[in-house]
Amino acid sequence: MATSVLTSKMDNLRIVGDDRTRKARETGEDIAILSTFLPPSLVGQTPSSQRPFECALGKECRLGDVKLAKPGTKKMEYKTRQWHEQCFCCCVCKTAIGTKSFIPREQEIYCATCYEEKFATRCVKCNKIITSGGVTYKNEPWHRECFTCTNCSTSLAGQRFTSRDEKPYCAECFGELFAKRCTACCKPITGIGGTRFISFEDRHWHNDCFICASCRSSLVGRGFITDAEDILCTECAKQKLM
Ligand SMILES: [Zn+2]
Ligand SMILES: [Zn+2]
Ligand SMILES: [Zn+2]
Ligand SMILES: [Zn+2]
Ligand SMILES: [Zn+2]
Ligand SMILES: [Zn+2]
Repeated sequence: MATSVLTSKMDNLRIVGDDRTRKARETGEDIAILSTFLPPSLVGQTPSSQRPFECALGKECRLGDVKLAKPGTKKMEYKTRQWHEQCFCCCVCKTAIGTKSFIPREQEIYCATCYEEKFATRCVKCNKIITSGGVTYKNEPWHRECFTCTNCSTSLAGQRFTSRDEKPYCAECFGELFAKRCTACCKPITGIGGTRFISFEDRHWHNDCFICASCRSSLVGRGFITDAEDILCTECAKQKLM
């Protein structure tokens, strides 16, 4: 998308590069043309003398005179506008473009550096430019290495993750931090891998942990009695309560 500058030089009164610039003008190529104001004897021989010169920088013209067209002074033409060479500058850093390429955007001219600074995609975490292979999360761009688990900072690019309050967590941390915990073993009940669990009132157990506090037999699918913190099979409960 960068636009290059063609130069048309005076060389012993022969205009070198003029064919190329004429062709570019005719075909409406997206280029700027750097040329030199000619002495009056040559004016009329080049297509650039078609209209009176007026520096597009206007009041800010660095030569202080928008109409200044002394022979030997260089000018830049781009699309329908013309500038003195020094006035054709980046709208941000004000550096003259010279013969470097530039990036036009709307009516403004940018040098490559400023354009990148201003319009490049930036990582929402580190605010640095993403040049390649970023990831998008909730429509926002991240570097792969910046898109990490909120808790343990391992990269989540290409990994399974879960978000909570708009923040991403790796599966492990999410389980540790937010999943239901088993009343018996205190480990999280993640649901990953189809873990089955039992919920009763506000308590939860892994299937394997849902056992009688007295005889340790599984209570899955059986009747049970709660005795304060404990759960008991009906037989143990009968014995204990008798
Ligand atoms: Zn100027
Ligand atoms: Zn600049
Ligand atoms: Zn980043
Ligand atoms: Zn983590
Ligand atoms: Zn458990
Ligand atoms: Zn029992």
